Amino acid sequence: MSDRLTAYLRAQAEDGALSISHFMKTALSHPEFGYYSQNQAIGADGDFITAPEISQLFGEMLAGLLTHIWHLSGTPDACLFEAGAGRGTLLSDMDRSYQQLAPELSRSGWYLLEASAAMQARQKAALPNKHLTHIQDASQLPPRALFGVANEFFDALGVNQAIYKEGKWHHRTIGWEDSRFTFKTGATLSEKEQHIISAPKTAQDGDIIEHSPDGFNIMHQLSTHIAQYGGALLICDYGKSDNLGDTLQAVQKHEAVEFFSDIGGSDLTHWVDFTALGRVAQEAGARLVGPQPQGICLRQLGIEARANQLRNAEEPVANRALLAALERLLSPAQMGQAFKIALLIPQGDGTPPGFYSEETKA
Ligand code: SAH
Repeated sequence: MSDRLTAYLRAQAEDGALSISHFMKTALSHPEFGYYSQNQAIGADGDFITAPEISQLFGEMLAGLLTHIWHLSGTPDACLFEAGAGRGTLLSDMDRSYQQLAPELSRSGWYLLEASAAMQARQKAALPNKHLTHIQDASQLPPRALFGVANEFFDALGVNQAIYKEGKWHHRTIGWEDSRFTFKTGATLSEKEQHIISAPKTAQDGDIIEHSPDGFNIMHQLSTHIAQYGGALLICDYGKSDNLGDTLQAVQKHEAVEFFSDIGGSDLTHWVDFTALGRVAQEAGARLVGPQPQGICLRQLGIEARANQLRNAEEPVANRALLAALERLLSPAQMGQAFKIALLIPQGDGTPPGFYSEETKA
């Protein structure tokens, strides 16, 4: 727990109208005390483990699909992109794949949207021989087709909640009471606010809905870019297809912990609303395909064939690790079902590999 971060947020919470998204953004990304500036968050020895940390196969499959789309779009001048690249594992796996699959594409520059200076340094260390351009805002992207990925990025952006009470939607905010942070019911939402966040007309007392203002903004910028210049962006996250329910969670050492228990020391996330992201894409003139559960998507992209290729009869220990990683990525009981992959592309029709419905494929 960072005392200075707590004091800083407490001063705002005592005013009674601290938004959840602002609280999350500060707790995660404050340049000095925020979670991403302080911690070795990601990996087996950290707080949470992500798909690229499980296996290189994840990045290889994604790079294969993006290379395929780059060819289909006529090998345009491109920029490679990642949002929230963490410690750079996916970045280096995909870079290696591009070098093998499409050397011309691999010579395009990498543009990395990254808020944390500590993470920027780790990304440079992960790919020491490449020039990386770190950007703070998607409007800084060059005017070229974008081929990129955002893995567990949107779930790390702040989310706001509204709660239904006595026939009306109210902002849910964060206050300070009895020496601790607590959720509070704030002012009612205006008609316009209800429209913006697609609030259902009626609900049960106590129902909660969510929306991510930063998520919407960044999605809007990336969708506008892809609508104008072309390209494709894979969005991979724990997510769902509506805005209903309280999906906030705090995670530490691979366990869920109480949301306010360790501010600045635990990872705060929410489940991404892919339907809302799809709506933003459409409004900007682009198209979001999916989401598809990760297990189905990676199977359709050929992950099992690639795993077989990597198996080596003389290395039983490595083989067991490979199979365990595959199971972790594909099994519905693990990341296969709840973790989803969606693809942002320019408007059009047709279904790219990885996104066929299960029935179509069978
Ligand atoms: N993609 C990585 C790490 C996910 S953690 C992986 O799969 O392992 C989330 C990442 O998003 C971190 O690198 C964090 O610093 C970054 N991030 C969080 N909020 C951000 C924001 N508003 N703008 C840019 N980067 C952000």
